[in-house]
Amino acid sequence: MQNYIKKLPFSIVIAKQYFSFADYPAKNLLKIFKTVQELTSFRTFTKGSTGFVPTMGALHSGHLSLIRSSKNENDFTGCSIFVNPIQFTNPEDFEKYPSTLDQDLKLLEEEGCDWVFTPSVLEMYPKTVSLKFDFGNLENVMEGAFRPGHFNGVAIVVSKLFHAALPQRAYFGRKDLQQTLVIKQLTTDLGFNLEIRVQETLREADGLAMSSRNVRLDQFQRQLAPVIYQTISFLQTKILEGEKIEEMIAAAKYNLLTVKGLRLEYLEVANASNLQSIDNSYKGDIAICIACYLGNVRLIDNVVFMKS
Ligand code: AMP
Repeated sequence: MQNYIKKLPFSIVIAKQYFSFADYPAKNLLKIFKTVQELTSFRTFTKGSTGFVPTMGALHSGHLSLIRSSKNENDFTGCSIFVNPIQFTNPEDFEKYPSTLDQDLKLLEEEGCDWVFTPSVLEMYPKTVSLKFDFGNLENVMEGAFRPGHFNGVAIVVSKLFHAALPQRAYFGRKDLQQTLVIKQLTTDLGFNLEIRVQETLREADGLAMSSRNVRLDQFQRQLAPVIYQTISFLQTKILEGEKIEEMIAAAKYNLLTVKGLRLEYLEVANASNLQSIDNSYKGDIAICIACYLGNVRLIDNVVFMKS
């Protein structure tokens, strides 16, 4: 029997440890995969649709809302937890990125997530990657301009994760608006056979967008942080009232200058589908996007709305 088991594909051996084949793949049991081979061989056995939620861990309710959406729309839901070194442009940000793996696994199990992929850096990058993506104008603005190479790192890891997880749908948060546009372009250009689903940003009661980085804010910074969403909400109101966009951006920027401890990186009003600048004559979906530092912690946020 032992020899027989040794010859079985790895996923079957895993499966035999936990449940009978009549139940396979079993529900309500979080399966943990650490290698691409474990995950892909498991996925070839899963019948029905799989929704996939890529994350960098330190999970909060925003992440869990993506898991819930996936569970509503698919037979199975998987999540990845991987802090992707090649998408960080600031070494300190990478080193200080929060890690709460035990808590994350508990939350995923409570949500009824079916599996989680937690690879090592060596597993994802056995060799240095030299591939370079070019997303054109989309990556010359905002996050692309301030974090050169960031979206290349995102595109590489997301491609590798899609190949390993083979999902029918993948779930991303609108909080990273530019990332969702890059990933949609990546999916179309490389012909990944899956649907990209974008979910609304979850916020704290005071409006601060939930983010794994929020835990790095000290008490004073945390009290200041709601000004980010207040600023974009102010701009949204003024634009909908027909005020001049440029003047309102200047007023909002001036106001932020007076907030001690906050350093603005960008505040942009753009066409929400390609993030290029707009003027007052523009009609359609508008994005107001902001990036700023509170101390050493870099936070981003945005709102998307329709102007007719
Ligand atoms: P991260 O772990 O920061 O890479 O985020 C993983 C996914 O969760 C990304 O698609 C994010 O856009 C999404 N996400 C992060 N914060 C939120 C939030 N506050 N609301 C909704 N989705 C979020």
